[in-house]
Amino acid sequence: MSYVDEIYEQVVAKNPAQPEFHQAVKEVLESLRVVIEANEENYKRDALLERLVNPERQIVFRVPWVDDKGQVQVNTGYRVQYNSAIGPYKGGIRLHPSVNLGIIKFLGFEQIFKNSLTGLPIGGGKGGSDFDPKGKSDREVMAFCQSFITELYKYIGADTDVPAGDIGTGAREIGYMYGQYKRLTGLYEGVLTGKGLTYGGSLARKEATGYGLLYLTAEMLKCNGQDIKGKTVAVSGAGNVAIYAIQKAQQLGAKPVTCSDSTGWIYDPEGIDVELLKEVKEVKRARLTEYAAARPSAQYHEGKGVWTAKVDIALPCATQNELNLEDAKTLVANGVFAVAEGANMPTTMEATEYFQANGVLFCPGKASNAGGVATSALEMSQNSERLSWTFEEVDSKLQTIMVNIFHNLDAAAKKYGLDGNYVAGANIAGFLKVAEAMTAQGVV
Ligand code: NDP
Repeated sequence: MSYVDEIYEQVVAKNPAQPEFHQAVKEVLESLRVVIEANEENYKRDALLERLVNPERQIVFRVPWVDDKGQVQVNTGYRVQYNSAIGPYKGGIRLHPSVNLGIIKFLGFEQIFKNSLTGLPIGGGKGGSDFDPKGKSDREVMAFCQSFITELYKYIGADTDVPAGDIGTGAREIGYMYGQYKRLTGLYEGVLTGKGLTYGGSLARKEATGYGLLYLTAEMLKCNGQDIKGKTVAVSGAGNVAIYAIQKAQQLGAKPVTCSDSTGWIYDPEGIDVELLKEVKEVKRARLTEYAAARPSAQYHEGKGVWTAKVDIALPCATQNELNLEDAKTLVANGVFAVAEGANMPTTMEATEYFQANGVLFCPGKASNAGGVATSALEMSQNSERLSWTFEEVDSKLQTIMVNIFHNLDAAAKKYGLDGNYVAGANIAGFLKVAEAMTAQGVV
């Protein structure tokens, strides 16, 4: 049995009931096969893949807090410090009822390669909890965040592990977490990113993942003889990534016609009204039915269905495995020619393979959504030098990073005879840097 297959079997056997983690490992290992097999003896002797797939540290803890009725609630908190070969652990905190150790491990594993691709010195990590901020009062969210950090603060720090936002963790949650960290440690340091602008946050961080997704998509199109201008776009999600992807798509002359949340989706042939969407989602924290009620051109549909819209480009920006084989077939039949992931692993492996087999340009999230973590690293730099850069300065660095990411993965794919396979290109380019650093640092 080949080294790659042996490691995948071990991962499945040692980590039962963690399907998302298995899926992420399989996708990465499959694309690394050509690289590993070219150097199998050395990698095997060094147990490089065993060390890559096993997190350096996994922290699981109890998070007790009191709700508004005086009832004690107990959630589970997680932080997986996956790989610190190229820098301190960096990765978001997800607050969603679906969170479990397998989900956090899949996200942390992906984060290693994503962070490597940014070209910045950041290792991979991820955290979260099965707490659901939806429907909770501000006081309840604060009580949870304070309890979460009261345990986690022992393991994080500006030079060790720097968490950030993710699903369910926005500016409000980061603020409460930062306040509690400062109170417990007495340190005013860049330990969390996505902070508010009055206390160490970076301009353009809020916009970074969505904007970065569009910068990379535009470059991918350009390098394939296409222009994003005038194209129609389907976006899923209506959160941080989706909103700023829609905004930047419009600025680049494209027309996003959809968005969605966990209860339904909008088709708006006139193009999404991004200011209205921000009002509904960022300010009122309401459902998309409110968007439809305020916008005569919008059609609201219950449940799934965002991928049935006829568009040129699809940008999944909600959650993992939200675009399956059937969706891919519908999109291709409707003429889609490019897909770039804003969310982490939103496309199933079968759907990805279908897109690739049908000539659709496909960019995986670990490359196309890396703008968020890249700008978080820029926030860390600003915190270290106690300076704030202008919006334009951060945005221009972001744009350069995203364009470089695309060219690096494109070059890696070509080098290994996999021209146009951006999934393989991203995994290979991300892996090689981490593998070299791990090898140089010895058996640790
Ligand atoms: P938000 O919480 O701001 O928004 C998530 C959106 O997706 C919401 O509209 C939410 O709907 C919807 N959603 C979440 N879970 C589900 C589900 N199970 N089914 C259907 N819809 C769902 O999160 P972000 O925008 O920050 O994150 C979105 C994705 O992007 C995630 O995969 C995240 O890991 C990834 N990502 C985020 C980065 C960032 O900087 N924020 C950086 C890199 C990747 P509802 O409002 O109903 O909950």
